Amino acid sequence: MPITPFHFGPGALIKVAVPGKFSWTIFALANVMIDLEPVILFLLIGDPAHPWLHTLPGAIAVAAIAATLGRKPCELSLRWWNRQLSAGWQTRWLLVVPEITKTTAWVSALIGTLSHVALDSVMHHDVHALWPLIDGNPVQGIISLDLLHLLCLGTALVALIAWLFSRAIAQRYLTSGWSLRVIVERRWRQWPAMLLATWWSVDGCYVLYWSLVDPEALEMMRDANWPASLSLYWACGLIWYWKGVLRELIQALRRGLLEW
Ligand SMILES: [Zn+2]
Repeated sequence: MPITPFHFGPGALIKVAVPGKFSWTIFALANVMIDLEPVILFLLIGDPAHPWLHTLPGAIAVAAIAATLGRKPCELSLRWWNRQLSAGWQTRWLLVVPEITKTTAWVSALIGTLSHVALDSVMHHDVHALWPLIDGNPVQGIISLDLLHLLCLGTALVALIAWLFSRAIAQRYLTSGWSLRVIVERRWRQWPAMLLATWWSVDGCYVLYWSLVDPEALEMMRDANWPASLSLYWACGLIWYWKGVLRELIQALRRGLLEW
């Protein structure tokens, strides 16, 4: 698969599962680097072959280069990404940790190239993944190409849903300021949405999470959770609300001073 995004799905899933111990950027870099082999061979001899790098020693060598030489450029690109985000929802949702430890870089690069060769050996007959231990490719065509692509896409989709879910839980009190504003300013039309947001924040996401993780614990804790969670929700709401009011007050003062 020359430079294909299908390889990135499994990496995204690992990233969501262990975000602090895995670098998706290094993983992606290692995947792109190993596929320079078929790309360059295609340009040189017209055949996108996989003779050297798509083997066990080749994959380890590419991983070593990605982990050692690629770590700093990856950190720089993550810092650059963070700088492009504007304050507000972008920084709250999209800010990334730019530091990549050496261990994380090695683990991510090795997972990148080894999983790449494993997936490619299902696709291409000329990938001898375990050379020189085992010659040949016994797994090519073991599942259909469509199913393989579907599995890769599936992992990307599961990763996206899990990521959205974890972010929504981490930021569940963020709607509290808005909810309070809807009540105080009597925006009646927004009440259904406000009630839904409040319920989701103090009870809904909690129920969803615990019914997946431990339904018995949910039975025991739900009654105790929601009053505590609701109080916290309104406490956060007051803080957010006050910040909003303060900002508006400063803006109004500035406008007043300019006009005056
Ligand atoms: Zn490949």
